[in-house]
Amino acid sequence: MRLVDRHLAPTPINYQSCYNEIAGLPNYPAFPDVPLRELAGELVARSPAQEAALDALTAAIGQRSWQGVREALALFAAAGAPVDGALSGELAQGLARFVESVLPALGDEDGRVIALAGELGATLSQPAPPAAEVQGGIARLAQQVSHAAEEQVEIKGALLKLLHLIVENIGELSIDDSWLRGQIDGLLASIAPPLDLRHLDEMERRLRDVIEKQARAKARTVEAQVEMRQMLGEFVGRLAAMSASSTAFEGQLISSAERVEQVESIEELRPLLSEMVSAAHAMADDAASSRNQLKALQDKVVATEAELIQLHKELDNASALARHDPLTDALNRKGLDEVLVREIASMRRKSTALSLSLLDIDNFKKLNDSFGHEAGDGALVHLANVVRANLRPSDTLARYGGEEFVILMPDTSVEQGVEAMTRLQRELTKAIYLTGSERILITFSAGVTQLAPDEESGTDALRRADQAMYLAKRAGKNRVMSA
Ligand code: GH3
Ligand code: MG
Ligand code: MG
Repeated sequence: MRLVDRHLAPTPINYQSCYNEIAGLPNYPAFPDVPLRELAGELVARSPAQEAALDALTAAIGQRSWQGVREALALFAAAGAPVDGALSGELAQGLARFVESVLPALGDEDGRVIALAGELGATLSQPAPPAAEVQGGIARLAQQVSHAAEEQVEIKGALLKLLHLIVENIGELSIDDSWLRGQIDGLLASIAPPLDLRHLDEMERRLRDVIEKQARAKARTVEAQVEMRQMLGEFVGRLAAMSASSTAFEGQLISSAERVEQVESIEELRPLLSEMVSAAHAMADDAASSRNQLKALQDKVVATEAELIQLHKELDNASALARHDPLTDALNRKGLDEVLVREIASMRRKSTALSLSLLDIDNFKKLNDSFGHEAGDGALVHLANVVRANLRPSDTLARYGGEEFVILMPDTSVEQGVEAMTRLQRELTKAIYLTGSERILITFSAGVTQLAPDEESGTDALRRADQAMYLAKRAGKNRVMSA
């Protein structure tokens, strides 16, 4: 009736206000939970305390409690406002994280740095870290860190010097081996600042090659030495036996001669003569067997020597464990596999591009046939040198097969990779290969591909590059194709 009297529409709100009036209750408007929930959704917590306040707000809205909403909002505001002269929770947390992440770079030997960092961490983890205290802590830590950093630089320098010394000494031990000499020269050249991971990686690979080679050569040399010593012992033994038997024979001859002088009848002479004959026979047999044994011994020495030389040759030519191709000094298949694994991991970690190129020299068989195999070898070395001179330091060159090379190019898209290969072709026409009086133009065909960002393996990418290279050959050679 009241609604009709006042010409009010019969809505729930109007009905409720009439009801409250008649019942004598205070007339609160309905609880605005929908807009309140929206508001709560827009608030961003910047500390654990603010997060708790937001939870309390959500709970209060659920319970339709104005009092709860009021208290939660007050809590949220208080947790966000910095106390005078104190750091906000967000800044303190950021600083603490920063200190924590910088610490490992300084190594863990410096106790003073660790202690100061611990103190600063404790200050920062207080609810409202006093700015003055934090500032003091940072200043003390900064000073200590700068000392520690200087020390790190010195340590790095000293380590490099030490490495230089070690490598030089390895070289001194084995100057007679040209492959090893080359590896060591390469190593010495690569032990130069600046140090970066790729550089260190290459150093490690070269050092490992040298060590493996040294170990194998040494084991065999020790064995051969033992054999030689045994044979020498036998030789001396034989000589001694020979001279002993000849001395005995001489003694027998002298005594027989004396007895011959005293002989009075021919009958007495007969046994003497037969004694002398058998002694002479024994002597001759002894000499013959000694000669045979000495001859056999000598043959064995010659064979062992030949085996040693052959072994050294084999080690030089096909060091299966080594990672470098001895002719061109590019990486071999094993070396390439290792670098591929590392570069693919790095590409995925940093979300960068990685491209690879497979190149094959054009008409190489004809070059070999016309100018000889040595000229062919020289052409391979020439190509490798031109590639190295025109690559970026981060790129890797590997000899993939006879006259096929792979170039790995980190941080390079397939378009940039094709560009790099085209540039290389231009450089190769400028740097003409000279052998004897011949000037030979070397050209190649290449397939370039970029590794797929997720699953693709190096082998799959190489297969795609190989297909593209094959298409370049089919299309007339001396060109670059991408896949
Ligand atoms: P294409 O243009 O189609 O690539 O023809 P090609 O003659 O270059 O290719 P093919 O595969 O027919 O011949 C490659 C030749 O490379 C055959 C082999 O004798 C020679 N070769 C492989 N390794 C070496 C090496 O280390 N030194 C020298 N001198 N020749 C090599
Ligand atoms: Mg080929
Ligand atoms: Mg070829």
